[in-house]
Amino acid sequence: MKFDVLSLFPEMFEPLKQSIIGRAEKKGFIEINLINIRDFSNEKHRKVDDSPYGGGAGMIIKPDVVYDAYKSIKKKKSAKVIYLSPQGNVLTHKKVVELSKEEHLILLCGHYEGIDQRVIEEIVDEEISIGDYVLTGGEIPAMVLIDSISRYIQGVLNQESSKEESFTDGLLEYSQYTRPEVFLNKKVPDVLISGNHANIREWRRKESLKNTYLKRPELLNCLDLSDSDKQILMEIQNESQND
Ligand code: SAM
Repeated sequence: MKFDVLSLFPEMFEPLKQSIIGRAEKKGFIEINLINIRDFSNEKHRKVDDSPYGGGAGMIIKPDVVYDAYKSIKKKKSAKVIYLSPQGNVLTHKKVVELSKEEHLILLCGHYEGIDQRVIEEIVDEEISIGDYVLTGGEIPAMVLIDSISRYIQGVLNQESSKEESFTDGLLEYSQYTRPEVFLNKKVPDVLISGNHANIREWRRKESLKNTYLKRPELLNCLDLSDSDKQILMEIQNESQND
């Protein structure tokens, strides 16, 4: 997967050089190219923004510099341009998996009050938001997108890791434990050290349903649960009423 990122602050992408994403890039599973929009300014002091027509606070990034930066990218016809924007569809697990199947994504990061609408209309295929709040720029949202998508690219993770995670099957993940067996007088659930894999699977399914019921109950409405899951859910509801 190739990511081309159009930004006024490419230095902000330093965190992607670390850990799993950094290693994935070094090994060639993903490619991240940072394009500084400012390099395409023809104005004095490399100015890239101007005040909004009609008045109002803040500065708007000019359409011509964004367009020239975009034109500099070598792209296949299938490349998809995403503008990170608070006005876009809010990012979900489903969207992340869908985007991970693309070959080439071009991520456009706004800053200040945003970007002139005409260039957005000209080059953007989709607007994506990372939540209903406003950030100072699209750089952090672009990093969120690159990180979440990269986890679904072959080779980046041990493939088992992403299979059982929260949202993969619509539920939150079960609670996890590691050594020591006893911590602050709290013992790891016996079933996890029993060595009985069928019981561990059953316990984890229940824990997953329980976490979802207690933390994000609305997710359960979107699922077609099996009779056995419905039965477990009833047990969980009874247990939590008796707590
Ligand atoms: N004036 C814009 C509005 O009210 O819709 C907000 C501009 S915001 C201060 C500057 C830039 O940050 C945006 O152009 C966008 O790229 C990015 N941004 C801010 N919040 C975001 C969010 N929730 N999701 C994705 N990008 C966001």
